[in-house]
Amino acid sequence: MSASATVKKPKHAAPQVANQKMFIGGKWVESVSGKAFETVNPATGATICQVAEGDKADIDLAVKAARKAMDGPWGRMNASARGRLLNKLADLVEREKNELAALETLDNGKPIADSIAADLPLTIQCYRYYAGWADKITGKTIPVDGNYFCYTRHEPVGVVGQIIPWNFPLLMQAWKWGPALACGNAIVLKPAEQTPLTALRIAALAQEAGFPDGVINVVPGFGPTAGAALSSHMDVDKIAFTGETTTGKIVMTAAANSNLKRVSLELGGKSPNVVFADADLDAAIEGAYFGLFFNQGQCCVAGSRLYVEEKIYDEFVDKMAKKTKARKVGDPFDPDTEQGPQVSKEQQDRVLGYIEHGKKDGARLLVGGGRPTGNGYFVEPTVFADVQDEMTIAKEEIFGPVMSILKFKSVDEVVERGNRTNYGLAAAVWTKDVTKAHALAHRLKAGTVWVNCYDVFDAAAPFGGYKMSGIGRELGEYALSLYTEVKTVTMSLG
Ligand code: ADP
Repeated sequence: MSASATVKKPKHAAPQVANQKMFIGGKWVESVSGKAFETVNPATGATICQVAEGDKADIDLAVKAARKAMDGPWGRMNASARGRLLNKLADLVEREKNELAALETLDNGKPIADSIAADLPLTIQCYRYYAGWADKITGKTIPVDGNYFCYTRHEPVGVVGQIIPWNFPLLMQAWKWGPALACGNAIVLKPAEQTPLTALRIAALAQEAGFPDGVINVVPGFGPTAGAALSSHMDVDKIAFTGETTTGKIVMTAAANSNLKRVSLELGGKSPNVVFADADLDAAIEGAYFGLFFNQGQCCVAGSRLYVEEKIYDEFVDKMAKKTKARKVGDPFDPDTEQGPQVSKEQQDRVLGYIEHGKKDGARLLVGGGRPTGNGYFVEPTVFADVQDEMTIAKEEIFGPVMSILKFKSVDEVVERGNRTNYGLAAAVWTKDVTKAHALAHRLKAGTVWVNCYDVFDAAAPFGGYKMSGIGRELGEYALSLYTEVKTVTMSLG
């Protein structure tokens, strides 16, 4: 080993964070109730700081501020000027990328290496991508019968409520803010209660970028209070939600029972990842490992049903077990750490509960299965082999570092089993046979299918779910339709 290889990379420092206010109408304010909640460092269980706790009264104020912005200069701003603001925001996020990466790691627990290499670049790319769209959102002229001039305008929906989860706080905010702002909407965002810090920091950067007061508002708080107030608000025109399927149903019901606001949902998944015997085995192992364990397994697209063809099953399982045993779990601020803690005690308990189900149902536990000693909400990287479709761990979304490997024999069988779920967010196939690759890409019912890769995301590529994995497509040009109303104008030509 060379001398340089033994030099340890320096640890990143965890930032100190002051207590946080909420951002409404361009001002930093305490909650109307005066209440605050704590946000916790999942790697240690220690409190990071107190955060103003929003509820209905704060949501009301934020919606009023957003409406005022829509009716004010924001509603009249040139589209190209909106694009310049979004570009400025992207530049500011880039300027602050190291601080933001550290803040994300502190609040969420994800390894600093991942925050730096994945969350920040994708977030910056997303704001830049939608900056480019702002002045390219065009309607059509329509050749209707008769002597008429008919055209469509793509107008902003208005005041949009956005509720995001804790697994990719910065990125989920960018996926929601990018298209909403490019299309000219005003926003009330409720970040997840586990991870409010980076959302508030981005709000400060948006203010610095020059977004007019009230265009963006960030109200931290809990789901059943602040989240419910937003989704049932009578003056919110649209709600965009990312989170669990059960919560998505609650949000959609609230939207229906209030003002029938527009709804887009990005929900859970139980994605089949199919490895054929003719695949590049090492690439498939690497991809399946990454596709499951990335972000502590806290990905809605996690390849949590790993179907491996019978002919290579034993070899695949042995190699995967060996690889997983070497996974480095620990302090997320250590640049060599591959896996940090789960986001909360609740999530840790839930994942450990699923592992118990796996054991009880008779799956073969090969690696992990417990929690390391010490503080923090860690779960060992866990691999189960010989998993059967009807076992709980093969049916329910675990949202943790728990891999389930299942055996299959034929194309038709794996397509049928892969589709036997209420979810349909993502799927992947590993094979060198191009015909088989396309056949599966077409037959698997999922919003995204990866072939010989996994978790490849880009702001330009649409993302969303079939079936109970959601409604609508985020990212790419498709997301613009979530944030615009189409108006048809017909004028008599005499
Ligand atoms: P997770 O398991 O990822 O926390 P949730 O669906 O519970 O999934 O949370 C995602 C987001 O939904 C969070 O911001 C949370 O506060 C919010 N939320 C939870 N319950 C509700 C609710 N009843 N109404 C609106 N939002 C909610």
